[in-house]
This record gives sequence, structure tokens and C-alpha cells, in this order.
Amino acid sequence: MASHFSSPPSSYRGRLAPSPTGYLHVGHARTFWTAYERARDAGGVLVMRMEDLDHERSRVEFAEAAIEDLRWLGIRWQEGPEMGGSYAPYAQSGRRAFYLDAWRRLLRGGFLFPCRCSRKDLAAALSAPHESNSPAAIEAQASVELEPLDDEPVYPGTCRPGADALLMSNSDLGLRFPTLSLKKRRKDGARCNIPLAFDPTASEIDEPGNFNWRFRVPDGEAVEFVDGNLGPQRFVADVDFGDFVVWRRDGGPSYQLACVADDAAMKITEVVRGEDLLKSTARQILLYRALGLEIPEWFHCRLVVDANGRRLAKRHDALRLRVLRQRGVTPWQVLATELPKE
Ligand SMILES: [Zn+2]
Repeated sequence: MASHFSSPPSSYRGRLAPSPTGYLHVGHARTFWTAYERARDAGGVLVMRMEDLDHERSRVEFAEAAIEDLRWLGIRWQEGPEMGGSYAPYAQSGRRAFYLDAWRRLLRGGFLFPCRCSRKDLAAALSAPHESNSPAAIEAQASVELEPLDDEPVYPGTCRPGADALLMSNSDLGLRFPTLSLKKRRKDGARCNIPLAFDPTASEIDEPGNFNWRFRVPDGEAVEFVDGNLGPQRFVADVDFGDFVVWRRDGGPSYQLACVADDAAMKITEVVRGEDLLKSTARQILLYRALGLEIPEWFHCRLVVDANGRRLAKRHDALRLRVLRQRGVTPWQVLATELPKE
């Protein structure tokens, strides 16, 4: 370790990005520990960023508990909400200006279109003809969609502008948008009250307003990357994921946009997170390219599952870090041993 002092400072910058919507459990602990180890072993900097954009579910006590639990585990970071740093603020709720700036750049670049579809509209459009279109089935699908903030069904193209509104300046950025297929047009956008020939470069639009804004993906293009843990990955735009939301009608950026804007602004060189976000990585790579930003390295961790093979969730109260600590379980046991039985 003595050589540490003579070696040049590492340019590695990693991050921990907990969402303060609940208490951390064993699964979070292992992913965050991996992020910590990789930053430490690289002699780099670790950033703590509180992802508190979900106003409904985020709570200050969860944010404080996350910091306390991760410290108890032995994880240390050099920049964060409680200590500051060169890239403050370190809570997403204070970074709206960064997200609006990214949204505007995407809009000016011709990558976005506004969408007024409700969740019910989408669920109805997405159900194949042979599937039930009953109100109950639509309701069920709509509620499924509510669950993961980081994934969403492939968008059926309802509000997507037509080929006649083809976007300028994409070719400058090395992105190709094939002409709109008939498949995309079969869903009539009439009920959304937005002309299909919406001009996304209209300079007078400066605020997202009362729309969802979607990123128009390059249909059929494979987004490929090599994950530091899981190896080569490949996702096809418009097959594995569709035009995704970057700004929500409720007035805030989506996870995808906020994550990219922050990781770029905070000069993160490697993103360590759970494998449930692999597909989000493909979406985010498209955002990096559209914004002309340098793409970081990726390292996705296997998810911890319970005895039944289910990923850990809120229902696994007994595997919360603070519950384990109260039961006398040590950090080492949390990280290295079999999960205790519930
Ligand atoms: Zn729509």
C-alpha cells in the first residue's frame, strides 16, 4: 500500500446511488459494497448520490438511514450529500437545472417528441388482439407498469411523429433514424391531440409543460456494450425497448435522463449497479450519444435472491440491514455468508 503515495492519482470515479424510498437490504449492501471495492481498489473516488426524485415515496429518514447503514457496513465515500464536494448538490432533488438543460439539448437535437398517452391508453394499445381487452386486464397491465421506474413496456408509437417530421441534425451525431414504419403509424395518434407532424425543434418550446416526453429510439439498431462483470450485452431498439420517457408529465425527469445527466456532470467513469438495470444501460447509452457525452464503463452485479429465487424487495423486512444489525449480524456476515432464513 506504500506505493499508493507515489502512484499518480487515479481518474476512477464511481458512485453509490441509493433511492431513499425504503430501508436498504442485503441486496443493496452487496451491490454497494462492490461499488466501494472497485473504487477503493482503483485508488479512485466514490461519490454518494441520493436519488430522491420520487416525491411521493422519498423520505428524509430513509436517506439518513441509508447513509448510516452503509457506514455501518464499512463503506466510505469522498463526496456526498452530507459532506459536499466539487459536484454538489448530491441529492437529485436539488439538480433540476441539470435535467432541464439535458432535456432542452435533446429537444433541440430533434430526439424527443411529446406524448399524452395515459397508462391506460398504453396498456390498451399494447395488448395484442388475442389478449383480453377487458377493463380489468387493462387495469392490471397499467398497475404492472407502475412498479419499476427503470423499465417500461415497448412504446406502441401512438404519438411518434411521422417521417414527414423527420428530425434534423441527428446525422451530425452519428445516429440514424430509419423512416417510420407503417407498423408505427397503425396506431392513430388522434386521441393524443398532438399533430403527428409536431416539429420537435420548435425554438419557442422551453419548458416540458404538461407532457410526457419520449426519446425516439433508432428502430432496429442494436445497442451493444461489454459489461465489466457480465460480459457482452446486446439490446435492439424498438424490440427490447421502445421510445422511452425522459420527462414526466408530473414535472420531473425520468430515471434514465437524471441518471445520465448526473453521471456525466459528476464525471463518473464506471457505473456499478444491479443487473436489473442492464436494459436501462442500453437506453442510457443512446442518451449519452445524443448528448455527445463520454460513455462510462459498466459493471452490473448479480441480484441477491431469496430461498425461492425471488429478488429481494420490500416484503423481505427481515433482510433489512438495520434489522440484521439489531439481531447481532456483523457486516462481514451480511457480505460473505448465506442469507439468514426469514
Ligand atoms: Zn402518446
